[in-house]
Amino acid sequence: MSFTLIDPSTGTPFQEVPRASAADVDAAVARAVDAQRHWASRAPVARADALRAFARVVEAHVDELAALEVRNSGHPVASARWEATHVAQVLNFYAGAPERLSGQQIPVAGGIDVTFHEPYGVVGIIVPWNFPMTIASWGFAPALAAGNAVVLKPAELTPLTALRLGELASEAGLPDGLFQVITGSGSVVGQRFVSHPDVRKVVFTGSTEVGIDVAAGCARMLKPVTLELGGKSANIVFADADLEKAAAAAPGAVFDNAGQDCCARSRILVERSAYDRFLELLEPAVRAWRVGDPAHESTEMGPLISAAHRESVASFVAGARVAFRGSAPDGDGFWFAPTVVFADPQDRIAREEVFGPVVAVLPFDDEADAIRLANDTVYGLAGSIWTENLGRAVRVSRGVRSGVLSVNSHASVRYSTPFGGMKASGLGRELGPDAAEHFTETKNVFYATEESS
Ligand code: NAP
Ligand code: MG
Repeated sequence: MSFTLIDPSTGTPFQEVPRASAADVDAAVARAVDAQRHWASRAPVARADALRAFARVVEAHVDELAALEVRNSGHPVASARWEATHVAQVLNFYAGAPERLSGQQIPVAGGIDVTFHEPYGVVGIIVPWNFPMTIASWGFAPALAAGNAVVLKPAELTPLTALRLGELASEAGLPDGLFQVITGSGSVVGQRFVSHPDVRKVVFTGSTEVGIDVAAGCARMLKPVTLELGGKSANIVFADADLEKAAAAAPGAVFDNAGQDCCARSRILVERSAYDRFLELLEPAVRAWRVGDPAHESTEMGPLISAAHRESVASFVAGARVAFRGSAPDGDGFWFAPTVVFADPQDRIAREEVFGPVVAVLPFDDEADAIRLANDTVYGLAGSIWTENLGRAVRVSRGVRSGVLSVNSHASVRYSTPFGGMKASGLGRELGPDAAEHFTETKNVFYATEESS
């Protein structure tokens, strides 16, 4: 059994990828159990060195990985290069962790009490198609650093960079079986990660619907799970903001990766007194957004991932009040022009995740109204606040129920800072200083020091 990959910018099939069975997963997990025992017993500095070596090999293959992502996912080459470089940086960052996973020494009577951060063993990581390389690395780098083995399932649509990263890990000298990439469907391979007794933790990134199912399966196995799910993030623009800057930055915040970004600011909330002026400034910025061949250096946005996904995105625009649109190439790729629509809070386009280059614009009356509207969603992943008023920036950033916010910026992802969602956007956090610890369980040991009589 195999799966056919299609170049999203041309619609052309170009490669077959095997589909693993549940028995294949079981064999991989058995190898991983073995590899993990040896890995965890290595000196911390040896594990750190191995991860740094992996990072250097990834750095040496940035252009190759980027070219694979252009072909497989239609990411603009400049973005794809950033993504591959980010993987190396994430590995370098967590290469510091094996030597820094310190436990505690707690004062107790009659002896010494010490805690250890013990690895889970084998960690299963399930990755979506929108950012195949980066999201994979947010799981595997800290998991390996903490002494675990990893089995990783890329999305069927976009397995190529993950497969290559698996090969590069071996080239870099990581032990056989420690980091295995298994291609196949979510219902078979992903579900086997959930049900296999030797996979002791699951990291899932994808839709809220599947995430709930994965969490329910993990609950039955008493298995911890990290969930990174969907979003409907707000870009809140106050009248006192630098409107030119806010308007110039807004397209990138939602059209980057053709809107196939869980952090996409897909609702722009604008204070009523600045509403007309902001739209006047937004229109030329949207029209100037460069959509085209992802292999070109200057391209800002490529196609959508698949024909089916384009249909789903288009269904949100049918019947919506379109304000203005950017451009997109003709041809057989899965193109969709950046689209700005007017919306009311109860409209489908203002409530559901589109996961495409479509943004809903809504007016608000005052600060309290802005916070209420921003929170009027089941999601709570990211968001932005544009204001020149410091007190307001503090109040609104504390008032919005989202895991990752930025003020006068749209930056959400830095490997050194925590990332993850509230409400239906997820459970747990990835990245940041504590991520390696999240791949361990605390063991508490009391050593009696009283002489026995
Ligand atoms: P998806 O359908 O939930 O799939 C995500 C991954 O789960 C894929 O590898 C998929 O495999 C696998 N999967 C599917 N059904 C499964 C099951 N029953 N058990 C175990 N695994 C299963 O999501 P998607 O369509 O790929 O991605 C789009 C969604 O992901 C959006 O809603 C987006 O917001 C969300 N997302 C969130 C974040 C975040 O960090 N919060 C990041 C990226 C994406 P196959 O597809 O190969 O069958
Ligand atoms: Mg899916």
